[in-house]
Amino acid sequence: MINFVGAGPGAADLITVRGKELLEQADIIIYAGSLVNPDLLKYAKEGCEIYNSASMTLEDVTGTMIRGEKEGKKVVRLHTGDPAIYGAIREQMDILDEHGISYKVCPGVSSLFGTAAALNAEYTLPNVSQSVIVTRMAGRTGVPGKESIESFAAHHATMVIFLSTGMLGELSKRLIDGGYSPETPAAIVYKATWPDEKVVRTTVKDLEQSAKENGITKTALITVGDFLGDRYERSKLYDPAFTHEFRIGTDTK
Ligand code: SAH
Repeated sequence: MINFVGAGPGAADLITVRGKELLEQADIIIYAGSLVNPDLLKYAKEGCEIYNSASMTLEDVTGTMIRGEKEGKKVVRLHTGDPAIYGAIREQMDILDEHGISYKVCPGVSSLFGTAAALNAEYTLPNVSQSVIVTRMAGRTGVPGKESIESFAAHHATMVIFLSTGMLGELSKRLIDGGYSPETPAAIVYKATWPDEKVVRTTVKDLEQSAKENGITKTALITVGDFLGDRYERSKLYDPAFTHEFRIGTDTK
């Protein structure tokens, strides 16, 4: 049994209790060294074999897993944030399937949410946006044509953009071409929940300039939308007038 574990967005105490227990029990840990906080490795037991996947290929990683499984060892593959977001786990799973090796996923706190926390923000404000679009700019990894930034921008929903910090001029242009006004609020969150976290509030048109001024070139999420503004409606759920399953409101009294 191989365990894919979400390490959380950065701070070592933002791993789940289950994830920490799996690290403590592991005989082999393969961690994504470019983004996983190395402090998490302090949970490893003595004698645990530890590999940084930053310099490994897919075959190196799965080869280590397969060897561990043959030796009867407990293997943890530690991914940054939640493994389901840009985690490249499917290709590992398919190779494990070919070898008849079973696996399980322990979810983690994605930087998507570490970033909202850093901003003290709610992505889904009533009457502002009730949808969150999680996407990226095409880089060396392409993005299907129907998922262009312009097409998503047309919805004016909350957008959270991964893996795009090096392309902010182009990103601004596409967001504006798609229909966001240049003054739409935006934020750049660098290393959310890490000790050196930086939060930069800006606008769609000034993304590139703001990143430059703050020396941010990678490990950041870009968030865009009026959820960063001041206007919203109160929730129905907590409205004194609103009746629902657990509370009678003044509307039915
Ligand atoms: N699975 C991860 C994402 C991996 S892709 C997750 O759920 O968060 C790597 C990209 O995620 C980085 O290029 C950056 O855009 C973003 N990222 C990862 N950790 C981050 C953090 N702590 N703060 C801001 N962005 C982060």
